[in-house]
Amino acid sequence: MEIIKAKQLGFCFGVKRAMEIVNKALKEKEGPIYTIGPIIHNSEVVNSLKEKGIIPIDDVRKITRGTVIYRTHGILKEEEDYIKGTRIKALDATCPLVKRVRREAMRLRKRGYKVVIVGDRNHQEVRSILSYIENDGIVIEDPQAIKEKKIGIVSQTTQSKEVFKKVVERILEEAHEVTAVNTICEAVEVRLKEAQRIAEMADVMVIVGGMESSNTKKLFKAVKEIRPSSYHIENEDQLDPLWFKGVHVVGLTGGTSTPDFLIDRIFLRIKKMCGGKDGGNC
Ligand code: SF4
Repeated sequence: MEIIKAKQLGFCFGVKRAMEIVNKALKEKEGPIYTIGPIIHNSEVVNSLKEKGIIPIDDVRKITRGTVIYRTHGILKEEEDYIKGTRIKALDATCPLVKRVRREAMRLRKRGYKVVIVGDRNHQEVRSILSYIENDGIVIEDPQAIKEKKIGIVSQTTQSKEVFKKVVERILEEAHEVTAVNTICEAVEVRLKEAQRIAEMADVMVIVGGMESSNTKKLFKAVKEIRPSSYHIENEDQLDPLWFKGVHVVGLTGGTSTPDFLIDRIFLRIKKMCGGKDGGNC
């Protein structure tokens, strides 16, 4: 059996940067170190950081001392304001591309546009963007009519280009003035395209990443449309040998917050399960 491993794997630059900030904080150790929510959407990584002393906390007001690291997807404006009013040391691990979406949304609002964010309203990144424009924005996931005359559109970084384009086209049908800023992260797009190419060749697809990871969920949805035998897992213990029975080609890819070591472990486990001639034990 052949396993096609994607070339675009491991942490994206935003996650790598966040992990460097975390490691630096661990070395400097100025009091307890917190993150507001998980630093990235990968439970393996978050759990291993917990063991090293990084404490994810939901309510920033419970932090009274030490260091707080802003998560990759961004924190809420009110959380940042609270931290600025204390003596807590803040390290900003927000991905620069997420900050760009926030900046563009603020700029559009200042210029009198009603801001439309194409994304998932429950996702931390979108909540963060909204909070920086005083929650004065509209969040949509699909093309729909917006009853405003002057509309400025931005996108969650993990949004698909196709959906973003359709949303812009739909809004253009009725609005008088539209400005659309493409704030989609290229790293996500590149991974998606490669995963789709692999899915065309594979009998089974394995997608590795956190269940909360937006880009992993999108990757999974996209490959499942091409290859119905696709599975989203977080670690090697979730692999089922039955998935590979009689299979010749397995495709393996992962989200932007999936570490290389996890992909390697999963690759080896699949190989071990099915390593014999023509799929061997599968
Ligand atoms: S996927 Fe893109 S936007 Fe998200 S953290 Fe990585 S580089 Fe930043």
